[in-house]
Amino acid sequence: YMVSAAPIFSDTGMLRGTTLLFNDISELKRLEKMRKDFVANVSHELKTPLTSIRGFSETLLDGAKEVPELRDQFLDIIQKEATRMQMLVEDLLELSRLEREDFHLEFTPVQLNQLVEEVCLVLSQKAEQKSIHLESRHDGEVVLQADMNRIKQVILNLVANAINYSPEGSQVEIAVEKRPDGSYLIVKDNGIGIAPKEVGRIFERFYRVDKARSRNSGGTGLGLAIVKHIVDLHHATIQVDSVEGEGTTFTIKFPSA
Ligand code: ADP
Repeated sequence: YMVSAAPIFSDTGMLRGTTLLFNDISELKRLEKMRKDFVANVSHELKTPLTSIRGFSETLLDGAKEVPELRDQFLDIIQKEATRMQMLVEDLLELSRLEREDFHLEFTPVQLNQLVEEVCLVLSQKAEQKSIHLESRHDGEVVLQADMNRIKQVILNLVANAINYSPEGSQVEIAVEKRPDGSYLIVKDNGIGIAPKEVGRIFERFYRVDKARSRNSGGTGLGLAIVKHIVDLHHATIQVDSVEGEGTTFTIKFPSA
């Protein structure tokens, strides 16, 4: 604890007592540690692609540019690494916007089932590369008061993860359901699953169960942190049910007004 003291005076200026203020610095320390870890993570995530871009461009300048196969291969790597940095910076900016005190969503009527179809189209190529079947199902139209682009981002992040953490040839199911207590968005995969001790941490910034796998699949490590913020800002809830080696289901519930 951090203790600070201040005297209390009466109207006539006589000393009447003292105020003691106890601050729980363990909480402050925890926040400070989180901030430091975050800065260290961001620096590391940016440094890795930068080192690679620098190395390959130097090798090109040192002569590799004269060998067509090497030149094409190295330029390809440079472009991929630059894209990775761009995605990371975009996710960081989005996260910092979502965390601002004065941030507000742009609410309009949103057709949830239509957004799901749009996301399936955007991710169809990614799914095809792993022969993953994207199956969407809904019973009729479900309309929400919501921030359309941000809900689209949520669906995109969840379905991209479902593809990333599933084996070739498996199936990803996206369902939109209207129930008496609210509207539901369910993303279900038959992938690698998440161990019980990890489930509680996956919404933390840069928390990854398997770092190498996440990087290789193109993740920034911020996808679920962004999802959680957007869900909270909509006063919705998100639930994860996962069995290691069997699969994972994310369920978002938008309560009826
Ligand atoms: P990343 O860019 O690493 O995918 P996310 O914030 O989207 O970052 O997810 C955090 C971690 O949660 C992932 O690295 C992965 O370990 C785990 N995860 C997320 N979605 C799934 C899923 N559908 N199946 C298994 N693990 C998942």
